[in-house]
Amino acid sequence: MARSVPPLRQPAEMSLHRSEGLVIVGAGLAGASAACVLAREGLSALLLERDPEPKHKVCGEFLSIEAQTYLAHLGLDLDHLGASRISRLRLHHRGKQAEAPLPFTARGLSRRVLDEALLEKTMSLGARIERGVTVRSIDTDETANLIDAGPFGTIRAETLFLASGKHDVRGAKRPMAGSINDLIGFKLHYRLAEEQRVALADVIEIILFEDGYAGLQLIEDGIANLCLVVAQNRFERAGKSWNSLIEEIAGECPSGANRLRDALPLWDKPLSIFQIPYGFIHQPQPTEPPGLFRLGDQMGVIPSFTGEGMSMALHSGFLAASSLLRQGRGSTAFHKQMASDIERQVRLAFVLNKAARFGPGQTMLFHLCRSWPSLMQQVAAFTRLREASLQRALALP
Ligand SMILES: Cc1cc2nc3c(=O)[nH]c(=O)nc-3n(C[C@H](O)[C@H](O)[C@H](O)COP(=O)(O)OP(=O)(O)OC[C@H]3O[C@@H](n4cnc5c(N)ncnc54)[C@H](O)[C@@H]3O)c2cc1C
Repeated sequence: MARSVPPLRQPAEMSLHRSEGLVIVGAGLAGASAACVLAREGLSALLLERDPEPKHKVCGEFLSIEAQTYLAHLGLDLDHLGASRISRLRLHHRGKQAEAPLPFTARGLSRRVLDEALLEKTMSLGARIERGVTVRSIDTDETANLIDAGPFGTIRAETLFLASGKHDVRGAKRPMAGSINDLIGFKLHYRLAEEQRVALADVIEIILFEDGYAGLQLIEDGIANLCLVVAQNRFERAGKSWNSLIEEIAGECPSGANRLRDALPLWDKPLSIFQIPYGFIHQPQPTEPPGLFRLGDQMGVIPSFTGEGMSMALHSGFLAASSLLRQGRGSTAFHKQMASDIERQVRLAFVLNKAARFGPGQTMLFHLCRSWPSLMQQVAAFTRLREASLQRALALP
């Protein structure tokens, strides 16, 4: 059953200057999982989170088997949280459908419920979390990281885990060169008509349309999550209107859009995110400052078609914690290991993402799914974290 979690405590007494051993910026999946692993090992981090209370995030909310493995290690019970089960993929393209089994049973759970459950777990293990604190800038040198947390004060941290997700922080911005960033991501939750909810049970539906694709699946409480990415110019052609875009997609792909017939949107308007740097991978530099670790989307951004971003974020949290415990504050080895663990998946997902957006690529994906479902499964397997990478991250000193 889904839970509504009350806001956690507000920023404690403000200070102008303080020193900390480890500060984690961002309490999403990457930051919170790292804090959780470290707290279990007796190392207390200070976690700073911009949002003062639980919030929805733009995400397909599809939990791969690797993400489930990490969450189980953190002690999260997805059944208890009400996650749906998903074992098939259904592709919609120009009014036709093709179906293939997934290589594992995936789960669907809203980020609001998932991220809060993880934060609660982290706090129960003794980590210190300050909510409603936005880090404005970071200044890093050989000895420490100086964190400007606005009215919360300035913090001197020996080690900093930067896990601010899609949001860059001044002084530590990601270079976007080489990544796709002309896409807009949208997400909206719906209460479907009963007949459509039954048709969606156990399935993730991908709807391919001109210059974009959408994913539709059930999450907790029988709610459906529609998450789509679309080229910015296509959205502009739709008059920058969500309703017009959905109508146009329905015209292009009636079978997919059928699912939303008589559906009730649960919010007034969708959440959105702009300029997602799909394909970005942080490349460690020889001059990289020690004591600054990049986690989650700050380390690498996998195109969302494969639904593997959350497991990569969790992977980075486990690996960073393990690296700090084993090797201390030198971050180069961690960044190198992360880059090697995620490179293959990010590159392949980059190609798949391009194929899923344009006519010939869409046709190819559709025929692959319809005629060679087992080949489709193998392609999917190549976009996932390798077993050896998982085992390495899960092995603590
Ligand atoms: C359209 C789309 C669909 C996706 N679908 C899926 C999917 O179905 N399955 C999947 O596995 N992955 C999916 N992903 C990827 C996944 O959402 C991300 O990879 C994942 O959330 C990254 O986790 P994170 O911890 O790095 O960042 P986040 O979860 O974004 O957490 C970052 C946290 O940092 C906080 N923060 C930001 N700036 C500051 C600051 N200055 N000071 C303090 N706090 C700050 C934020 O409030 C946030 O809580 C999708 C991504 C997109 C864009």
